[in-house]
Amino acid sequence: MSTPEPGRPIVLRGGTVLTMDDAHTVLTRGDVLVVGDRIAAVGTDLDVPEGTQEVDATGGIVMPGMIDTHRHMWQTAMRGYGADWSLTQYFVWYYLEHGKTFRPEDVHAGNLLSAWEGLEAGVTTTVDWSHGLQTVDHAEAAADALLAVPGRFVLAYGNIQAGPWEWTADPAVQAFLTRRRDEGKLGLQLAFDVTGDPAFPEKAAFEVARELGLPVTTHAGVWGATSDASIQLMHDGGFMTPETVYVHAASLSTDSYHRIAATGGSISVSTESEQSAGQGYPPTWQVRQHHIPVSLSMDTSVWWSADLFSAMRTTLGADRSREHLEAHVEGNTVTQLSLRAEQVVDWATRGGAKALGRDDLGTLAPGMKADVVLLKNEDSPVSFPVLNPYGHVAFQAQRGDVHTVLVDGRVVKSDGKLVGADLRAVRSQVDATVEHLRTTMGEETWQAGMNPAMPEAGAAVLDNPYTYTEYKSEDTHGARGSLF
Ligand SMILES: [Zn+2]
Repeated sequence: MSTPEPGRPIVLRGGTVLTMDDAHTVLTRGDVLVVGDRIAAVGTDLDVPEGTQEVDATGGIVMPGMIDTHRHMWQTAMRGYGADWSLTQYFVWYYLEHGKTFRPEDVHAGNLLSAWEGLEAGVTTTVDWSHGLQTVDHAEAAADALLAVPGRFVLAYGNIQAGPWEWTADPAVQAFLTRRRDEGKLGLQLAFDVTGDPAFPEKAAFEVARELGLPVTTHAGVWGATSDASIQLMHDGGFMTPETVYVHAASLSTDSYHRIAATGGSISVSTESEQSAGQGYPPTWQVRQHHIPVSLSMDTSVWWSADLFSAMRTTLGADRSREHLEAHVEGNTVTQLSLRAEQVVDWATRGGAKALGRDDLGTLAPGMKADVVLLKNEDSPVSFPVLNPYGHVAFQAQRGDVHTVLVDGRVVKSDGKLVGADLRAVRSQVDATVEHLRTTMGEETWQAGMNPAMPEAGAAVLDNPYTYTEYKSEDTHGARGSLF
């Protein structure tokens, strides 16, 4: 059908429906009826009100909108720039050298692009872990961009250019948070990290969060940055609550996992990020043993995109990889895998909803908010057969297969195309930001930032007993630390 008209009920007919309800009910040839901003019914051969528009979901998969619980959306104008960065290079670039170059309009441009990017991939809710808010003008720009896009967003307010105890004490910041909270259009969190300094200066920021009634999201268990000491300080201070979201939690001790499990918080796993940047091994293989709730996240488009299919895939791979490796060290063989495709689909949907305290999201059931995704791509040979729908979502599907997306009952992507997105206008804002950064930094610094130096391998030739011919393998195969 053509793009659905707003205001009329919509039914998605005849798809494989992953309800993600408590029993993980799956309907084959199921229907999902949306009336207003809510799901009115889920079933087979549903009767629908007069005037309901129909989306043919046959051959496709209908699932709840996905939820990304940690994404630095302001960095999206730098898409792919840091593909070869380690975490250290990221810190140096954003925290120390160039993060302060971003003007409010640059934060706006990044958020706008990022917001559409998520919707296009079927991510209907994103937490904007917005730690580039040097001034309240930056925060207004971030919020305005999010509100200009018909997705569901949580603005997690942060500022890496000042200590959390400083910016949270700023009356202008508190006024912004109070006003935006009372407007109710955006979800809000406070976003800051706890360094582990025994003086615990972040305590004041936690107190502001408590006073304003806002959850805290924090990068925890990040190798070289935040550690078990941070968790202990939070725990001793009584600041670990069920609303707290621990991002990465990749290099923590069992004791820290116990504290998180006992206080009811959740962990936002960014597997692609942990694998490349080095926060620690993607932790699901550990945290699932402690029954800590998990959600998934994409971190930043300076490396990766907003694609949670990728998150599901890499999370399964990393978890299984570690499970095999741990067994091999003991001389054992894993014959039955612990982490299943069904579980990562749960984390990408329900897991995010639980992390955000939103019991009206993450499930397709009557009365829930109508954030719905249809995966269907008749032009793709990967789209059939759908035999194992969870496996299909986790390992086969990709953003190009996202056919229809509804947020709050509103169609934001239809027949594979975003609805109402003026990407040309977004592109001109992003171009202006790139131009600003590039000229401010200078071409040489810009290029050096994008192409970090290779580690020094030294002059020694790697020991290889088979190098007995005249063939100089070291000249071409990286023994001197160069691929070329
Ligand atoms: Zn992050």
